[in-house]
Amino acid sequence: GPRLQGKTAIITGAASGIGAATATLFAEHGASLVLADVVEEALAAVAAKAEEKGAKVVYKTTDVSDEEQVKALVDLALETYGQIDVLCNNAGITGDFTDMNSEDQENWKKVLAVNLIGPVLLTKYAAPHMKEKGCGSIVNTASVAGIRAGAGSNAYSASKAALINFTKTAACDLGSFNVRVNAVCPGLIETGMTKMVFDYARDTGKEAKLGSRCEMKRYGLPHEIAFAILFLASDESSYVTGQHLAVDGGNTAS
Ligand code: NAD
Repeated sequence: GPRLQGKTAIITGAASGIGAATATLFAEHGASLVLADVVEEALAAVAAKAEEKGAKVVYKTTDVSDEEQVKALVDLALETYGQIDVLCNNAGITGDFTDMNSEDQENWKKVLAVNLIGPVLLTKYAAPHMKEKGCGSIVNTASVAGIRAGAGSNAYSASKAALINFTKTAACDLGSFNVRVNAVCPGLIETGMTKMVFDYARDTGKEAKLGSRCEMKRYGLPHEIAFAILFLASDESSYVTGQHLAVDGGNTAS
């Protein structure tokens, strides 16, 4: 049966990839949605698809690193539905992958602003309402890069490691209010973010390499992450908090 019936969920980065798959899946499971992204047209298309599934949907272009815009998004959720049950902090950027010596400060600031401060701001404005209601679930999309680093992705890896730690401190702060905070850590997933990697691999006949870093020897698809997010968002995970769940085909198993 539907697993989010009667619940309201905010999803950031909902215009593409994992966020779009999560929006569609949540709609199928009875949630009312507040979708946010910096890209308006694609966001509207995802909202329309969720509406076709019978969900109530509002959407708003929002840069998660901008405090005023985040506040306005949370206000929209409360004005529309009067409650926030689920917050999916999913928006993220890779920034430039460079070697350590050429990492410039603007790249660090931008990546940390979106990947770390974004979830911090959303939590700041949404959590008080969850505390007041006495229930809620926050699901942060981190990465295997936050568990195991790789050369050339200093800012991205650091932002995701910090997000995992923030997930745990937030879980400690909010646990006694029955507000749970968890993270999913995707491995390599085919989305807008990784399009260049996939295009390059396909163009050069190296598609098999896309799965080579994990035990299952294949890359993942957005819905495989969305199902993990659904579990953590729903009451099925009612005793799970402060955790980070790798959904990575075994990438971090060895
Ligand atoms: P994606 O690029 O398809 O989707 C990310 C969305 O976030 C985009 O629609 C983008 O416009 C939006 N976004 C970017 N900056 C934003 C901002 N400041 N405010 C609001 N929205 C913003 O990529 P995806 O792979 O679906 O990424 C979703 C999450 O998954 C990200 O946090 C990413 O770091 C994480 N992740 C992805 C992979 C992968 O292999 N694709 C692996 C591990 C983690």
